[in-house]
Amino acid sequence: MVGTPVEITFLPNWVLGRLSSDPRKRVLLNFALSATLLLIFFAILNAERALAAIPHVCLMQWLLSVPCPGCGIVTSLAALAHLHFREAYRANPAGPVLAFHLLLQMASGTVGAMSSDRQKAMLSVVRASSYAALTGLLLVWVIRTL
Ligand SMILES: [Zn+2]
Repeated sequence: MVGTPVEITFLPNWVLGRLSSDPRKRVLLNFALSATLLLIFFAILNAERALAAIPHVCLMQWLLSVPCPGCGIVTSLAALAHLHFREAYRANPAGPVLAFHLLLQMASGTVGAMSSDRQKAMLSVVRASSYAALTGLLLVWVIRTL
């Protein structure tokens, strides 16, 4: 219903269906809750350390010797959650843009889910932010690849 290029949602429909019968409200709840859970994951569970233990695997890097636009983005987000800005920028300069999108998605999803008058406006905010995040990712990727 609301396809956005950078949609950070992962709650299954059966969970959302228990929260609301309104399809638009379910989308907004998914925005708000998925972003909140991700932020908690990065901030509290010390994802940075956990990720360091996992070897880096990227199909594009392996095949073409060029990093993909998303290379380092999880490390960057985890570093940002711990306010390690330099490390976040080094991992992927688009990380802060994506983090801002995640925060905006959380805020807009919450406002839109709570106020039916603002649903459409909040969906537009997430959509615009999503295009900005995608642009940031691609721009950083082009600059890093050149
Ligand atoms: Zn990659």
